[in-house]
Amino acid sequence: MWFALSACTTTRPPLDPPPQIVSVAVTLAEPAGDAEAELERLRSFDTIAAKLRAAHLHLRQGRTEATIDLCAEVLHGVVRPSANEESFARYLRAEAFAARGKPELGRFDRDRARALALDPELLRRLPVPEVPRPASTPRLADLPVQSRSVWGAAKANRRNLDAMTKVTRLTVHHSAVYFRDTRLQTCAAQLQKIQRDHMQGSGWADIGYHFLIDPAGRVWEGRELRWQGAHAEGRNNVGNIGICLLGNFMRGREGQPPTPNQVATLRHLVGQLAQQYGIGADGIFCHRDFKATECPGPLLQPIVLQLARDMARVGPGRVAAGQP
Ligand SMILES: [Zn+2]
Repeated sequence: MWFALSACTTTRPPLDPPPQIVSVAVTLAEPAGDAEAELERLRSFDTIAAKLRAAHLHLRQGRTEATIDLCAEVLHGVVRPSANEESFARYLRAEAFAARGKPELGRFDRDRARALALDPELLRRLPVPEVPRPASTPRLADLPVQSRSVWGAAKANRRNLDAMTKVTRLTVHHSAVYFRDTRLQTCAAQLQKIQRDHMQGSGWADIGYHFLIDPAGRVWEGRELRWQGAHAEGRNNVGNIGICLLGNFMRGREGQPPTPNQVATLRHLVGQLAQQYGIGADGIFCHRDFKATECPGPLLQPIVLQLARDMARVGPGRVAAGQP
């Protein structure tokens, strides 16, 4: 029995003390010797300081996955990290995403790290990014817009959103579901369903469209205009306002024409947005201009084309005012 004990006590190499402090000077320092040897030693210590130091060393060695895993352990571990510790975990994870060529995945972490950072040297490493000038909220004074709170919108997933850049165009869609109810509550429920489909079904950050128009002709606020939409495939969403009319504007038994109120509101909304953002008639699109789809349906597409022609002829102001 005694030799077993002595075997245990004699084979263990002496350990350097683990890092106690989380700071740029300690956590992000260059390794004094061999980084792999230091990593091996750090494995003996189950502390936040040791995990963050290891996360840094893995990143330095090009193992971004290990860095991301360790940061997640710190952020979601049993022991809640301090604000200072959280700022380092988020900074390191953002750096790991950047090293993988996906800096946008670390945007939320970087913002949060900046908000929490206490170490002045870490703050220096987290410059405030130049924010693209957000699109200003449209002046829709004479066109009431039902806000997100009216329809009970779920919160958008902020880490997955891109800022809207200069608006140059807008695109019209249909929801492709037969719908003719004009009651406020039913329309609100329909918007919730579309948002669920987009967030849970498609994995998007929020409902994809910026505006929706119900059969009564009400305008509903979809994704906030300061964020780029998700409605026209990839880069086509850049600077592109998405407008969806509720209904399935197809021919045949499952189809329906848009209501006169919907069409009047579409013209009003498009005319106002065009004025606001200086969008010309050539900036009015249908979804099918970007992809092989029937959207916005053969019963709505000619209405959009006519709208664009009228805009070219009499200008957006008169289209908005309903006097083409
Ligand atoms: Zn569409």
